[in-house]
Amino acid sequence: MVAHLKKEHTLVIIKPDGVQRALMGEIIRRYERTGLKLVALKMTIPTSEMARTHYMVGGEEWLENIGRKAAVAYEKKGKKSPFATFRENGVAILEANAKYLSSGPVVAMIWEGHQAVGIVRKITGGTEPLSSDVGTIRGDLTVDSYQLADSDQRSIRNLIHASGTPEEAEKEIPIWFEEKEILKYRLIAEQILYDVNLDGILE
Ligand code: ADP
Ligand code: MG
Repeated sequence: MVAHLKKEHTLVIIKPDGVQRALMGEIIRRYERTGLKLVALKMTIPTSEMARTHYMVGGEEWLENIGRKAAVAYEKKGKKSPFATFRENGVAILEANAKYLSSGPVVAMIWEGHQAVGIVRKITGGTEPLSSDVGTIRGDLTVDSYQLADSDQRSIRNLIHASGTPEEAEKEIPIWFEEKEILKYRLIAEQILYDVNLDGILE
């Protein structure tokens, strides 16, 4: 197996609601037991500027897409988005997110391993807790919806940020961590996950 396939990085942030709801341990446990490796972790209070930079790594495309995603969710429920354009909704979400993420301490982490981005997204669940799959962090541990968030003009409180793609992770990680904070070490469990021959078990 090509070495780099085992070393994909993804950024996870336990947002302020996750810290306040005393879910830090529960959330970390769910990622940890997959076999992914935790290579960086810090508790910090982000500035709203930092939060804005973080969300804007996706640029104009992100602003447009996030509005589209919300409109589709409204449609599925037979309702109509209150925003005139996708972008208008995107800008409102960016500002709301900056306020949300900087409202208190967060826990930022980097998880490493084969398909780390996809595995973490799968366990985290879809953006809107109301429709996130059962068994996911967002689906199991909280209750918010697009409708409730929009009517209060705030961000959806969904406990977690998780990078959407490896490219997104690459751009987001330097906002939160310096190179020297990302640890390089071996985990015994990796032999079971990745070694070609399981020949180190028997005495
Ligand atoms: P995800 O966090 O699942 O990757 P996005 O990248 O699309 O989702 O959105 C980033 C964050 O912005 C979401 O986690 C959520 O907190 C917030 N958000 C997204 N869409 C909306 C919306 N329509 N209304 C309010 N907040 C939203
Ligand atoms: Mg995202």
